[in-house]
Parts: sequence; structure tokens; C-alpha cells
Amino acid sequence: MTGGGVDSSVVVVGAGVAGASTVQALRRRGHTGPIVVLGAESTGPYERPPLAKGYLRGDEDASTLASPTSQLEGVAWHLGSSVIGTDLDAQWVMDEHGDRHSFDHLVVATGATPRRLNLPFGTLTLRTVSDANELKARLTPGAQLVVVGGGFLGFEVAATARQLGVEVTVVELSSQPFADRLGARAAGALLALHCAHGVRIEAGTRVIDGERRGDGAVIELANGETLDADVVLESVGAVPDLSWLTSAGLEQESGLLCNQYCEAAPGVWAVGDAARFWHSGYARYVRLEHRTNASEQAAAVAAGILGKRNRYAPVPFVWTDHYDTRIQIAGAIAAVGLGVVDHHDNGAWVETFHQSGDLVGGVAWRAIKEFQSCRRDLLARAREWPDVDPPTS
Ligand SMILES: Cc1cc2nc3c(=O)[nH]c(=O)nc-3n(C[C@H](O)[C@H](O)[C@H](O)COP(=O)(O)OP(=O)(O)OC[C@H]3O[C@@H](n4cnc5c(N)ncnc54)[C@H](O)[C@@H]3O)c2cc1C
Repeated sequence: MTGGGVDSSVVVVGAGVAGASTVQALRRRGHTGPIVVLGAESTGPYERPPLAKGYLRGDEDASTLASPTSQLEGVAWHLGSSVIGTDLDAQWVMDEHGDRHSFDHLVVATGATPRRLNLPFGTLTLRTVSDANELKARLTPGAQLVVVGGGFLGFEVAATARQLGVEVTVVELSSQPFADRLGARAAGALLALHCAHGVRIEAGTRVIDGERRGDGAVIELANGETLDADVVLESVGAVPDLSWLTSAGLEQESGLLCNQYCEAAPGVWAVGDAARFWHSGYARYVRLEHRTNASEQAAAVAAGILGKRNRYAPVPFVWTDHYDTRIQIAGAIAAVGLGVVDHHDNGAWVETFHQSGDLVGGVAWRAIKEFQSCRRDLLARAREWPDVDPPTS
């Protein structure tokens, strides 16, 4: 594959924030060639985090979600246009209307779609604005919501639903929800926060059966409990959207497998939730479903397209909001261990995790400002990471 440099032609598949940020980064770095963006949704790029929070609560409207990148010059946006196939040797992708789009560089930015459990009753999922609109319409005061899956997204919706006067039960397979993501202390604090707000938590169990009842369901759990629901939200993770790439012969391991430059094959790049890239600092493949990663990885991909390949080895960063509490996580958190805690005013604290004396991660509880120095320290440590190459197969 040829045609690197500022005037190369680029096709971006996926008009989410990762695709849009790549386009923006390309133009900012002086790329002048033609760019085509193909997006399955009919709307331009928008922010998804508020869909579980302010937008779902009704505090924000659709106009505040939109990303301004759709205004960029010389970029052809084909919205409502899914890509259905590609020929990497001939360097084109084909959209659902049968049109081919040629490229020197292809950027795979197709994100992920909610995983489904095939439950025997109707459920909703939350990924898009239209999903959020459907869920919002059903979250009326006094309604009973059952959330299947107690990850960040499921519990964020639980918090928002409580603020809307909805009765909420969360069903989670793990007996220690969040422990692997937050460490034991913050996980315990977050569950206690939800209990204090009246969320019923059924942890260490799963849905084994159920049936539709009216618009809702009656749900049977493995622990013998039965739940009545007016609305059921399935929130059990998301899987990368790569079916359109199947014929391309690229490796997919729950994400398009890429090297440390986010390149899956010469001239084929992956960014955002769809990418499983070699993290040369952690010496393993990772896929990060975080908003911050979408922008940071986009900058790395844009630089690569312009011939300035730098290894992409970020310190992962994610935030999650529950009621009036923002939790931030950076780096790697020890699965169930306890770190070192610094307490601050108004119940805020930062917990840091160390390995062999070195800082490896941190969690902040209502401590946005105080967390900045921890993030800076993690970034400084990251500069000393060894540059481990991916295994050769
Ligand atoms: C409800 C919700 C709340 C979240 N909250 C947080 C948060 O608080 N903090 C945080 O750090 N992260 C959060 N995230 C995660 C963050 O939003 C994602 O990591 C980010 O949106 C990933 O961007 P992306 O562009 O890779 O994927 P997406 O945003 O999924 O965009 C991919 C786009 O590609 C399109 N597409 C798929 N297949 C095709 C095809 N064949 N042809 C053309 N287009 C296609 C899709 O329709 C989609 O529009 C949240 C996510 C959700 C869903």
C-alpha cells in the first residue's frame, strides 16, 4: 500500500468521536488530501457519555452532544451509509448503496455495539441517541427498571433513573462488582452510594429465565428471587463492529488487532473502541472503551498516516458519574487490593496503587483537581516504560 503524506486520500469508516477526532487531527497536522467519512448513523459525530447521564436525565439536549468536526473543510461526510465490504488489495470500501470509495489509507473507527444475552423478554440497550430517547420515554416516576449487568454504564443509568424517581434493581454476575475496575475501597464506596440512594443490588447472580408481561417482564434469578420490571436494560458490555471487515483477512480478537502504531496492515489503521492494539509499555494487547482514548489514539493514527509513526502507549484514563460523585481512574488498578489513600476536603479522596514501589494507577473519588498530580506522575512514569515489541507469530 502506498501514498503516505499530506495529500494522501483517507477513508474513515465510522463517524463517532474516534473517526471525527482522526479527521480533525489530520487537518490540524497539515493533511490536505481528500477525506471521506462513512457513518452508519444518520447523525454526525456526537458525545456518548451524556447519554447515560445529563441527556438521559433531561438536563442536556441533542444539540449539546454534537461534535463540531463535521464542519471541517474538504471532508465528505456520508451519513446513514454503512460500509458493507472492502478489498484491501484494490484499496476500496463499499457502502450499503453499492458505492465504492478508494483510499491510500483506511481508518477503522466503527466502535462497538451492545452485547446481547438473548433473554426471553424484551430488553433495551444504550449506545445511541435513539436508544437513549427510547429509554428516557420509559423512565417515568414510579416505574420499575431492572438493569442486567452492573458495570459503569449499568450503574450510571441506575443513578440517573433514581434521580427521575424510578425504582431500580441491578443484577450483576460478579459478587464483587467494580472490584477489578476500581479496587476494593472505591468499589465498596460506590455500591454503598447506590444503596444509600435506594438501588437494590442483586450481586453474584444472573438471570436464568423470565417472560414478557405487558410492556415489561417477570424475571427469574439464579438465587431464587423474582423481579417485576416495567423496563429492562441490558448492559453487559459491547463488542467491536467489524463484520464488514471479515473478508479482509485481518486478525480480529475482540477488536481489530494492531501493532504499537495502531496499524493492522500497511495503510490500515484502527482507532477507538474498535481497536485492540499492542501496548508496548504494558507488553500486551489492549482495547480501551474510554472517551479519552478515542481522541488520544486518533492523534497517534493521524501522525502515523502522515509518516510520523510514534508508538501509542497511553496511560488509560476513564471517568464515571453517579449522582453528585465523579470517579476517575488512571493507569492499572490492582484487582482486589488496597492502595494508599490521601483524604481531602468534603469527603474527596485519591487512592494510589503501587507495584514494586512504583506508582501504577490511581482512583479519585470526587477529587477532580486533586487527581491531576497523580495523573502527571503516571505520565512521567510512562516515559520510562520499556518499548516492548509485539510477539511475532
Ligand atoms: C452511554 C455511554 C456512556 C459512556 N460514558 C463514558 C464515560 O463516562 N467515560 C468514558 O471515558 N467513556 C464513556 N463511554 C465510552 C465512550 O463514549 C466510547 O469509548 C467512545 O464513544 C468510542 O468512540 P468510537 O468512535 O470508537 O466508537 P462509537 O462512538 O461507537 O462510534 C462508532 C461509529 O461507527 C459507526 N459504524 C459502525 N459500523 C459501521 C459500518 N460498517 N459503516 C459505517 N459506520 C459504522 C457506528 O454507528 C458509530 O456511529 C460511554 C459510552 C456509552 C455508549
